Amino acid sequence: MGIDIRLPELKTEQSRPKAGRVGKKAAAFKMQPVRRLVQFGFLFVILWIGVEFAIWVYQLQQGQTPTVTRPPGVEGFLPISALISLRYWILTGVLNHIHPASVVLLVIILATGVFLKKGFCGWVCPFGLLSDYLAKLHIRIFDRRFKLPKLLDYPLRSLKYLLLFFFVYAVFVQMNLFDLHAFIYSPYNRVADIKMLKFFTEMSSTTFWVLMTLVGLSLLIPHFWCRYLCPYGALLGALSWISPLKIHRNPDTCTDCKLCTRACPAHIPVHKEKVVLSDECNSCFQCIDACPVKDTLYLSVTRRKFKVPGLAYAGILVGLFVVGIGLARLTGYWHNRIPVEEYKYHVQHLRDPQYYHNRGAVPRYDAQRFHVPPVGKEMEPPSGK
Ligand code: SF4
Ligand code: SF4
Repeated sequence: MGIDIRLPELKTEQSRPKAGRVGKKAAAFKMQPVRRLVQFGFLFVILWIGVEFAIWVYQLQQGQTPTVTRPPGVEGFLPISALISLRYWILTGVLNHIHPASVVLLVIILATGVFLKKGFCGWVCPFGLLSDYLAKLHIRIFDRRFKLPKLLDYPLRSLKYLLLFFFVYAVFVQMNLFDLHAFIYSPYNRVADIKMLKFFTEMSSTTFWVLMTLVGLSLLIPHFWCRYLCPYGALLGALSWISPLKIHRNPDTCTDCKLCTRACPAHIPVHKEKVVLSDECNSCFQCIDACPVKDTLYLSVTRRKFKVPGLAYAGILVGLFVVGIGLARLTGYWHNRIPVEEYKYHVQHLRDPQYYHNRGAVPRYDAQRFHVPPVGKEMEPPSGK
């Protein structure tokens, strides 16, 4: 295991920019408090959704009609179902009403990848936030930041792309239109959100120890999950190549102090780049905040044009979610069309074999019992809803 960076160096005299070469001091305004505000804002919303959903499921299990509304945002935790629905939408033009919010959120997240690089990882994702704090704890414990040697780092980084390839291949190559339709309307997919909740509330000891191992690895090797295993991160990293926004460095004003490189949690040698071209850059602005020379590091489309200030970046990122979700609500593609009475039946039968699947292949189910529209047709809204 290689030792990369000693943080105390950040404050030494030698690391400061050379006098005389610095034309303008960096602006005092830093983006990290804003980034934390956005991250904690999203975390608060996610926790709120989690609690509301848990109450909703609990009341259903008691045979009651829930007094709270099922929060559609919970579908953000169903990325595989979203990917399957996205392909079905592309093939048929029908955005199904089993988990429409999952597709809406997937499309919004893909849009952030195209326009704002991996901003989702650095500004929105709760696992990114957890990783940030585990990395802080790591530095407190070890007084330095460990980094795996390149010989291990590169092959491990490809793991997340392999996982992504596995999912994309299974959904876009192995499943035909009828497989997609069967999965989307299956009992398994209808309760995928409830099963996901139970994954956490009725955690097996294996799951618990796997999660603890991942937390432990992220404590030993900062951002282990994000850097090596997260398929969502891989997807956004791949999209970030086509994103027009990049971190640019002006070599004319740069003093080569390397503060940017030392601040970068993704181990990118920012001080050597004119443009940061890396699938690991999550637009966290830590390099820009660390740079002591004004306008030397910035996020922009080209080296000189279309600079995007941090506040504008944060506004666009949050705005994409607000506008996307608002549009979905207005057009009726936010709430699903599974009636509460049907949910009451599902929660009583969750252990039946039809509520499972084998790598996307679902067992035969009684399509008459639940409303299953023909292939390529919309699901009717439940009566009385
Ligand atoms: S290059 Fe800058 S914005 Fe990108 S990850 Fe590193 S510190 Fe964050
Ligand atoms: S770009 Fe990096 S190396 Fe250059 S002045 Fe800024 S912090 Fe120092």
